[in-house]
Amino acid sequence: MADELERNITANLEDVERRIAAACARVGRGRNEVTLIAVSKTRSPAEILAAYRAGVRHFGENRIEEAEEKIPLVRESFIAGPVTWHMVGHVQSRKAKRVVEFCDVIHSVDSLHLAARLERFAAELGKQVPILLEVNVSGEESKYGFAASTPVARADFLSQVGQFAVFTHLRVEGLMTMAPIVPDPEQARPVFRALRELREALRDRAPFSSWAELSMGMTDDFEVAIEEGATMVRIGRAIFGPASY
Ligand SMILES: *Cc1c(COP(=O)(O)O)cnc(C)c1O
Repeated sequence: MADELERNITANLEDVERRIAAACARVGRGRNEVTLIAVSKTRSPAEILAAYRAGVRHFGENRIEEAEEKIPLVRESFIAGPVTWHMVGHVQSRKAKRVVEFCDVIHSVDSLHLAARLERFAAELGKQVPILLEVNVSGEESKYGFAASTPVARADFLSQVGQFAVFTHLRVEGLMTMAPIVPDPEQARPVFRALRELREALRDRAPFSSWAELSMGMTDDFEVAIEEGATMVRIGRAIFGPASY
């Protein structure tokens, strides 16, 4: 069983790697410009270790309750090198402390209030925490993130983002978005492009960050996201198989 698990995940990863490399090549980007994050929510420690042995060094979780149980369980097995844990799901302010304790990078910072809480606990723990600001580019009501689907909302975001410059224990490194679920990944392209364009505007308007990172693209649309400039893709099912809820 364990062998079969490892064979499946290794084969899936090889396929994902091939597709990432091809997408990079299509737009003249280097493979090293894109970080693959294996989203391991709902996956067992055995599945995480199989991906690790196949070469994955970045993992993503979307619920702190699950992350704080699993991360300590698997950590001692990482003997070939360190792993970076990414929080990619919505973070409630009252859970900010636990997220700072267990996660290395936080993709889903969607309010100044949350950032202030993260800053407080990062200071207490003596940590520098890289964060991304989550932006709702598509305008879907169900999505978290700073509103940016209309010119007015975008201008509002741009005028407020400077407030994130005050945090000394958080390092704003870029933006994250979730594309809508669509039948054809091409339909997600405008959302990825809009995030990249917002990043260009931020580079002019908010030079306190390099805005280097664009976290966008999942199993169904990561190749389009890479073509539009993704520097981090968050992939679950294409690595671990169909969701196991
Ligand atoms: C689950 C999840 C992913 C990965 O989704 P797949 O479609 O399985 O690749 C990426 N980002 C976030 C925020 C998620 O919750």
